[in-house]
Formats: sequence, structure tokens, C-alpha cells
Amino acid sequence: MYRTNTCGELRMTHVSKEVTLAGWVQTIRKFGAITFVDLRDRYGVTQLLFGEELTKQLDENALGREFVLQATGKVSERSSKNTNIPTGDIELNVQSYQVLNRSAVPPFTIQDDTDGGDDVRMRYRFLDLRRNAVKKNLELRYAVNRAARNYLHAQGFMDIETPFLIKSTPEGARDFVVPSRMNPGQFYALPQSPQTFKQLLMVSGYDRYYQVVKCFRDEDLRADRQPEFTQIDCEMAFVEQEDILSMFEGMVKSIFKEVKNIDYSERVPRMTWEDAMWKYGNDKPDIRFDMSLCNLKKPGSVYTNKKDQNALISDAGFKVFDEAETVIAIAVPGCSEYTRKQTDEITEWVKRPQIGMKGLVFIKCNADGTYKSSVDKFYNEDRLKSIALATGAKAGDLVFILAGAEERTRKATSELRLEMAERLGFRNPTEFKLLWVLDFPLFEYDEEGNRWVARHHPFTSPKPDQISTMIDNNPSIENASEYLSHPYAGIKANAYDMVLNGNEIGGGSIRIYQRELQEKMFAALGMDKEEQLHKFGFLLGAFEYGAPPHGGIAFGFDRLCAILGGSESIRDFIAFPKNNAGRDVMLDAPSTIDGKQFDELQIKLNLK
Ligand code: ASP
Repeated sequence: MYRTNTCGELRMTHVSKEVTLAGWVQTIRKFGAITFVDLRDRYGVTQLLFGEELTKQLDENALGREFVLQATGKVSERSSKNTNIPTGDIELNVQSYQVLNRSAVPPFTIQDDTDGGDDVRMRYRFLDLRRNAVKKNLELRYAVNRAARNYLHAQGFMDIETPFLIKSTPEGARDFVVPSRMNPGQFYALPQSPQTFKQLLMVSGYDRYYQVVKCFRDEDLRADRQPEFTQIDCEMAFVEQEDILSMFEGMVKSIFKEVKNIDYSERVPRMTWEDAMWKYGNDKPDIRFDMSLCNLKKPGSVYTNKKDQNALISDAGFKVFDEAETVIAIAVPGCSEYTRKQTDEITEWVKRPQIGMKGLVFIKCNADGTYKSSVDKFYNEDRLKSIALATGAKAGDLVFILAGAEERTRKATSELRLEMAERLGFRNPTEFKLLWVLDFPLFEYDEEGNRWVARHHPFTSPKPDQISTMIDNNPSIENASEYLSHPYAGIKANAYDMVLNGNEIGGGSIRIYQRELQEKMFAALGMDKEEQLHKFGFLLGAFEYGAPPHGGIAFGFDRLCAILGGSESIRDFIAFPKNNAGRDVMLDAPSTIDGKQFDELQIKLNLK
């Protein structure tokens, strides 16, 4: 037997027991004639005491960090206890030991605060995974996985695996493709999600399906994306949107309870996509804090049922506002005493190419009730006051105003809101706020490709009362820039996202389940009959054999873990992640394959 106990297990109750431990050497400390070794395994660390005789042996045959060691001896009470670790009351008085394996000197220290940079740690990920901090993350990941499965199992969901070697399932990204040796010249696509399979399972009658499943998307890796990532993928038959919302609100709350012991009893608030964009400039608003947008001016063609406050800023001869499509303000709490240097710095921040604004206007709402602004040449104090009041600013606050083209300005204001919240410490990682965002637009316009694309995916159903708008109108547009006034722009989908602390953690929709409507949808997206049959003939065919009404949702499992773990990065919660260039630096993948493999596949490289 290699061990009787683990390195995290022994307590005062084990004193005088003879035990055998096995693990990795964390540290070696020599004190005169005796030696202390901290032995580590997955469960913890135990101090080993080597007496004089054994220390002499160690002197001859030195141990090193990360050696694999087995030690037998008696558990004894420590004279100086370590209250920082659960085994800190005892130590193992070693009687015999055996080096089970040696270790090269590790390229970084296997400790919480390691000296290893990102690159080395990824190259030696198997060592990095020994570190407590990384282990904690994987434990949390497993706990989330377990909690989700327990909940779904209790609700009658069945875990059904779906294939990886398939045909394209469009989720808006590029496919990873795999050549087929047995079918020369033909390729499988790896699933961007199991979307079409889970819908087919509904047709087959498995009315509650789930899977914790890998998805593959060949995207440019913007910050914190992975080419392969994991979803908790779910689908239900005979449901309406309301059924899905309550079922999965339940799942997330149950994960909160099991993993973080948080009783999230309040109902998750709901907001339409339009309200989210109007109020926060963002379809996944962080609602842990307010700082909502004050729409001072909007273009006529969007948010048609919302009223802006243009009267507050018009007729002042201030060209920047007069000529802008959109003017939006936010009130930042407690910042009225910002110095010139500070406001200049934020102005530079909004001018960065990623934000893309031309400038920033501010109004200081001073504690003494006066108002000072960068535009007081155009607006007297009364007008400044009315603008400030409209934003909800109080004495001591600082109002920022951005002006420009609609999309860019709205996005920039949202970014500024998040940035200020970050600086002011409003984005507390231990506070969790959920939100449902509903009624997304069904389509988005791709100005470059001059065509409509599905905002969620092509299987999402329009709101029932807007089906006719989709059917009765021709999707084509003469002048691409006028897409906002096309009837398609106003069609809303039966789609929903779950947002946690400003991150989309899940998204789904009620699906189309009638062949005719699905064909109309494909046609609206510019697919002719032939292409529809080539790509989705199987699904259209299945819809002819009694497809039930159905809908579903998928949660981004990696992201959910990262947020619950209080981290920004999903990589920290994946055992073997890829870097920003999509590389596995440990395996050195992707890599070339040998000539024989190309021959077998009948493929010739033509690198440009
Ligand atoms: N398949 C969708 C996605 O990956 C989720 C869903 O509609 O259920 O985003």
C-alpha cells in the first residue's frame, strides 16, 4: 500500500498512530541535525520530521523539490503549531522513507505566489496544476458541474451525447474542419454548438435534454475566448419562454447555493434588449451599480418609443452637440473634485482608438450647489443644473457627456460607465447580480456583406405577432446604410440572455419548429432553396415528422466558473487552456503533420 492517509487528513486525533503518506516535496528545511519536509498532495500539506539518523541519510542522498516521497512514521503533536494549515497541529515523525521518483528542478516555484510567468506556467501546465490556486479553480469548476448536473437530473433532464464530427452548426463563427480520409476531398465540421442535434432530440421525444459539452469556434481570439470551450447545453419541448426562464433561473440559483452557499432568493429582474441598450448602452449591463445613461439626444430612426431630452441641450450654439446624432450623459458619484489632470486623463481615455470618441464634456456638480463645466461658454449655470439633474446627479457628482454617431457613442458611454465603476470599486467580485435580457432583435444587418444575419442563430423564432412582418417583406435593401428603417430591423426574437455582473453567462431562444417558417427564415438570411437543402435538409425534413414546440438555452460554463471564482480570465478555470493565438504551448499544437498523412488525405498544402 502506497499510503494510509492523505497529506490533508491528519489531526490531533491521529496522534501516536502509525501512518504512511505519499506526495511531493514542497519544501526542505534543515535545522541543525534534524530536517523538516513539507509533503504535499491534492488534499493538503503535512510536515514530516526527519530525526538525526535519517537526516544523515538525507545528507548523503539529498531530496529535492517535487521529489515523490513515501514516508512512514508516527503522528505526533507539534511543539510549534501552524494555525494556517488544517494539519498544522501535528507532524509525522518519520521512521522510514522511500524516494518513489526524483524530479528535475521545476522551472518555477509550486506555490500560490509563484515566480513563474504566464508562458512558462503554460508550457509546464502539469506543474502549474499542482499549485493550490489553480487546484482551487478546478475544484470550483467541478463543483459547478456537479451542481448543474444534480439540478438538471432532479428536474428529469437526460444527458445525451452528440457527435463532434458533423456538418456546420452556425453560431456566427468560422468552423473548425476535419478532413475525412475515407471520403477524400470531404470535410467534417466540429460543432460550434450541438444546436441542431438538441433540436432533433426534441423531435425524437427526449423532451428534457442537457449536456456539458465542448463547442468549437474558430474566432479571432479576443480577450478571454478559447477556440474550444464548454457549454451547459439544454433543450426542452412543450415549453414557452416563461418555462425556460424559471427552470434555468432555478439552475443558476441552485449552483449559487451549492457552490458559494449564497441564497439568491429574489426573482431575477428582467429587462428588454431595447431598455438595456437605452439605459446602459449594453445588452449585458452590469447592474451592481446604477450610473444609468441619460439620453440627451437620439437619432429619429432608433428607439422610436423612447423620448430623449434634447430640449436641455439644443439652441445653445454648441456645434458638437447640435451636429451629433447622439448625445448621452452619465453621472459619476462623488467625483466633482476631479482635477484638471484627472478629467484630461479621462478625456484621453475616451479618445483611445478602442473607444473612438473625439472628446468629453463634463459638468462638476460642486458640493456648494454651483455647477462648473467645460462648456460653460455655451450653457449658463441654470442650464448646466437642468442637464445635471436629468442625469440624476447629486451635489458632489461629476457628469460626463459624450456626443457622436449613435452606435459608437452608445458603446463608448457604456465603456466609460464600466471604467468609472471599476475605478470607483463598484464592480465587487463577491457580489452577484443576475439579470434576464429579453426580446432581442431577430436580425442584425451586416453592412459589409449587405445582408441580414441572425442575431442569435437561424433557428430562433420571431415573436409570433411579427412572423407576418418577416414573411410579407422583402429582405433586400437598396442602400445598406438605411437598414435601420427596414421593417426587419424592428422584428424581435423569442430570445433571452442571462447576464451575471455584466457578462453574458447564458443565451437561448424558443425555436422555429415548422418547416415553412424555417425555410422563410433561411431565405431571409439570403439562402436559396438549394443551399438550404444542402446545409439543413436533415432539419427541415425532421420538422415534417411531428416536431414539438421547443426551446432551450446554453450556459458558458467556463465563464460562469470564472465569475463565481472572482476572476476575469476563463483560462484559469480550464485544465489545459490555449493561449491568445489559439496555441497549446505545452503540446506545441497546432503543428504540421507528416507527408504520409497528407497523402492519405489526398491533400496538398498551398500556403500563401
Ligand atoms: N446554441 C446556442 C448557443 O450556443 C444556445 C441556444 O440557443 O440554446 O449560443
